[in-house]
Amino acid sequence: MADTRRGLILINTGAGKGKTTAALGTALRAVGNGMKVLMLQFLKGSWHYGELDAVEAFGGNFVLKQMGRGFVKVGGAETDPEDIRLVEEAWAEARAAILSGAWDLVVLDEINYAISYKMLDATVVAETLREKPEMVHVILTGRNAHPLLVELADTVTEMREVKHAYEKGILAQRGIEY
Ligand code: ATP
Ligand code: MG
Repeated sequence: MADTRRGLILINTGAGKGKTTAALGTALRAVGNGMKVLMLQFLKGSWHYGELDAVEAFGGNFVLKQMGRGFVKVGGAETDPEDIRLVEEAWAEARAAILSGAWDLVVLDEINYAISYKMLDATVVAETLREKPEMVHVILTGRNAHPLLVELADTVTEMREVKHAYEKGILAQRGIEY
């Protein structure tokens, strides 16, 4: 096994819980190694997640930004142009951040949803990932990861739902879901 350092493309997908939180865990690990982490959250924006406050402790070494509105109407003509504009803005920032080499790890949280809702083109994302600086790591999260991106990625994990509290009518819990 070669032990050369290199940037990886990782995908956390699947219907089970844990995609975003696994990315946050990896981000914490990276920051602990003195690396700089940028996490851009596509679509998210209305809920206040605990991690937004937690990352404050890391200053400029771990930056987390919500780039959406939280609720997205999907399905062809119904997609609100404002949500598409926000996704385009998020993507422009994500692309610039990846290509800049200023961040050791860039997390594109929920980007797979934006792609599967046809708000963002998978080929455009793939193009940027192919030209990323060698040492930059990128994590993409969200269900229904596009096959093109799965093909391109080095490590792909599919969270499988065995059961979820929600099925018992238990609503999202502070500290666990947000
Ligand atoms: P988390 O942020 O907790 O790691 P996730 O990123 O895997 O979850 P998302 O698809 O982004 O999951 O959805 C986020 C929210 O939906 C979380 O509050 C999560 O608990 C909830 N959720 C995830 N999977 C399920 C499921 N199978 N059934 C019901 N709710 C779910
Ligand atoms: Mg998520």
